[in-house]
Amino acid sequence: MLTDTHAHLYYPDILDSLPEILQRAEEAGIGRVIVPAVNLETSLKILDLSKEYEQIYCALGLHPCDVSKSNPNEINEIEKLLSHKKVVAVGETGLDYYWDTSNIEQQKDLFRKQIRIASKLKLPVIVHTRDSTDDAITLMKEEYEQYPVRAHFHCFSGTLAQLSECLSIPDSHISFCGNITYKKSLLDEVISAAPIDRLLSETDSPFLPPMPYRGKKNEPSFMIKTLEKISNVKGIPETELMNVVSKNAEKFFALQ
Ligand SMILES: [Zn+2]
Repeated sequence: MLTDTHAHLYYPDILDSLPEILQRAEEAGIGRVIVPAVNLETSLKILDLSKEYEQIYCALGLHPCDVSKSNPNEINEIEKLLSHKKVVAVGETGLDYYWDTSNIEQQKDLFRKQIRIASKLKLPVIVHTRDSTDDAITLMKEEYEQYPVRAHFHCFSGTLAQLSECLSIPDSHISFCGNITYKKSLLDEVISAAPIDRLLSETDSPFLPPMPYRGKKNEPSFMIKTLEKISNVKGIPETELMNVVSKNAEKFFALQ
């Protein structure tokens, strides 16, 4: 059973058709969807969704693009929600230097905080990076000594050197999104080099739909197209890749 490890299914226009979206996912062999929060409000919403829909699991945390808007107590409130049985990760957290570089210290502070919480609770952490991969890796390595944690670098689009740095963190995993299917994608070499035992599957819905769905709202069932591309680039049968990433997700997120 495949898992879409990263799909933001809480937007109002998506909620309207969520049963159909989850049905199409199921038909495509995707039995679980991990929905990552970006703040307290979405954390609460996702928890509710996970109670309503068996397929939905939660990652709760504070996104780097939301740290400026957050109040100082917000991460503590989110921390209290992490004991729920369908919470499988902390996140998404990380660093984003694309949208805002004026608050880098605050972003780093909250990233560290979430790594430490995840380490304490023995949950993995979902890491977002944009123009910030090197700093995110450095920070994770600094933290690892005292606060070891399993890291999921989602939507990986770094270089070969960054890939090997990410993978040097014990038990870290990466995943690719639909943008690897775009003509201008320069990620084939990185995909080739990524070991399948460290690979997870995701869509980042509703963003980055794979071809031929570009221009549409991405949804979990489209994940098959991204996996197709990975299996082509790596020259391994699709069924084998699907088997491996299914098991990887179950193990990494300790899914039941
Ligand atoms: Zn995300």
